[in-house]
Amino acid sequence: MTEPMTKNRTIRRVVAIELAMLAAAATAWRRRPLMAAGIAAAGAIGAWAAFRPSSPVFGPVVARGPADRPRAALTFDDGPGPSTPAILDALADEGVRATFFVLGRQARRHPELVRRMRDEGHQVASHGYDHGILVMRGPGHVRDQLARTEEAVRDAAGPGVLTRVFRAPHGFRGPATWAAVRSAGYRMAGWTKGVFDSADPGPDVVARRSARALSPGCILLLHDADGWHPDNLRLHTAAAIPDICQAAREKGLELVTLDELIA
Ligand SMILES: [Zn+2]
Repeated sequence: MTEPMTKNRTIRRVVAIELAMLAAAATAWRRRPLMAAGIAAAGAIGAWAAFRPSSPVFGPVVARGPADRPRAALTFDDGPGPSTPAILDALADEGVRATFFVLGRQARRHPELVRRMRDEGHQVASHGYDHGILVMRGPGHVRDQLARTEEAVRDAAGPGVLTRVFRAPHGFRGPATWAAVRSAGYRMAGWTKGVFDSADPGPDVVARRSARALSPGCILLLHDADGWHPDNLRLHTAAAIPDICQAAREKGLELVTLDELIA
């Protein structure tokens, strides 16, 4: 198992490739202007697609549900972690089922929380094993991330609990990501709106941004843990859940799992 690739290292490498492509384009410019323009455009589109979670360039991404039905989905990434019980408690109090994009590494640490997600009717989906960024990774590495997460969830909660939906860490994808994800039988998920709850802006801000974002078909991105620092808490997110659910009710929106939203 290789070290997870961090966000900064990935961005540095993509920028280096982009600069090399621009240099190649500049060299070719006089003799082959069309080719030079092609190289420059490919570099720009590749970099844009890699870091844009809902871009279709590296394969289709489910980023929202149908807008003609009054439903929306709350989704939580990076857990299970130390704040997941508080989030599950809050969802249970509201009678709301959500979707958890779990990390395999975290499912190994907190198998009882994966069982609790299952028992309380939430959807369990995959966020990969170790939260490493996939942009520069080949298909073998991506498949390994998926398989290790499947194994961890199966060991925690039994077969058939992990649904075949995958959300890449930070939504960042590379050319190999889609091929690997599709060959493993997964759909790729993005999100409609994120509210930057991972910056811990306070429960009121998380709730206010979520209320503004919620609309028919919305897939709302939240976090029940921290993908890079597993001991970090997400108490602001947990505390915001009652207000988020209240806002959904006021807008006449039923909160459902991702699979139900896109069914
Ligand atoms: Zn994440």
